[in-house]
Amino acid sequence: MSSELPSYRQAAELVSAYAAQLGRLRPAVERVELGRAPGRVLARPLLADHDQPPFARSTRDGFACRAAEASAHVPLELAGATRAGEPASGPLPPGAAWEIMTGAAVPQGADAVMMVEHVEAGGGHVRLRKSRSIEEGENIVAQGAQARQGDELLQAGAAIGFGQVALAAACGHGALEVYARPRVAILATGDELVPVKVTPGPGQIRNSNGPMLAAMVVAAGAEPWLLPTAADNAQALDTALYNAADADFLLITGGVSAGKFDLVEPALARAGARFHFTGVMIQPGKPIVFGELDRKSSAPHSPRPNRPLPFFGLPGNPVSSAVTFLLFAAPVLAALQGRLEAGPHFALARLSPTAQKKGKPGLTRFLPAQCTFGAAGEVPEVGFVSWQGSGDISALARCNCFLVIPEDAPALEPGAVVRILLP
Ligand code: AMP
Ligand code: MG
Repeated sequence: MSSELPSYRQAAELVSAYAAQLGRLRPAVERVELGRAPGRVLARPLLADHDQPPFARSTRDGFACRAAEASAHVPLELAGATRAGEPASGPLPPGAAWEIMTGAAVPQGADAVMMVEHVEAGGGHVRLRKSRSIEEGENIVAQGAQARQGDELLQAGAAIGFGQVALAAACGHGALEVYARPRVAILATGDELVPVKVTPGPGQIRNSNGPMLAAMVVAAGAEPWLLPTAADNAQALDTALYNAADADFLLITGGVSAGKFDLVEPALARAGARFHFTGVMIQPGKPIVFGELDRKSSAPHSPRPNRPLPFFGLPGNPVSSAVTFLLFAAPVLAALQGRLEAGPHFALARLSPTAQKKGKPGLTRFLPAQCTFGAAGEVPEVGFVSWQGSGDISALARCNCFLVIPEDAPALEPGAVVRILLP
């Protein structure tokens, strides 16, 4: 059976094609204050409202001059001064220099700024030190060098972080139009699950996947909607799936393996699901299910009434749930938010000298690992986190990435350059 399952690459391509198609359907737009914009997605391009910088700006405290004159190391008479915040002045007379502060407008006629540390000053004159040279344009950012008025600075679909907030602020936007956040239903399934605040009885465990997935959804910029846990029986699952129809995206955990009480897939089938895959050749997370449900006309509150509801059935083991979310659910969630950039995010690191791992033919593995990003100039080094299998939540809490073991790798040797999946 498993040989019919898609490889990681095939499944990733399928998800990314699906996400690209979803991404063409623009979400609703809302306006948020700049302070609430981080983590959101820009719904309109950000245009420069003026040239950036708006005037030729000095990047140093020092003396504006003509580079050709200053290069002769002759004394230049101080003809004036401009502080940051003052309008550009000048013109700079021949054979003269002009005192200037960082961020101030360069006077007309000057083509360079000598750093204050690079001159000898006295008697109303400054002279470039013999040990220094200066070239035209040095320490000046020309007007419009970063952007011209009307230029598109950010595309719609750009994720908003601190840099985008700075740019929006510089362009005079106290609020931004962003895409509405998708509402993500999270349905934990399993007879053994009790809520976080309940002390588990014999054979029971707390539902940790619900809060974990909610955290991942929040980190991805969407809105989690935790549904009541569903028991492992057909009726409970049918009701839960019916109730989830008001979401933009559905994440189910547990009940997708091959066990006697793994009833999620049949419940999805009863609800009319179209499956894109029902397992992928990865470890952990092999039983993952991906598909979409048509919405019933009896789900009148649905935010996207005419659009199918995409869902993932993630395996119940916490490490499996986390890995499959990052690999497959996150790109779909990004597309539902109108984000241009979707992930998953991989990086290269060097395997630590003590680490070693055998591959499993046919399976791409994503194992909990700890990467030290280290000092500047050093290659990040990654080692495995010890774990007791995909149910090991403390391994999940101790890892900061997942080490990728390709399906065709016979073994990873210490010091090898490897790929890591970043959260
Ligand atoms: P399943 O995918 O339902 O076969 O579950 C696999 C393993 O994950 C079992 O040991 C479950 O008890 C555990 N598990 C399932 N759902 C959760 C959950 N929401 N939180 C923590 N562990 C879970
Ligand atoms: Mg179960």
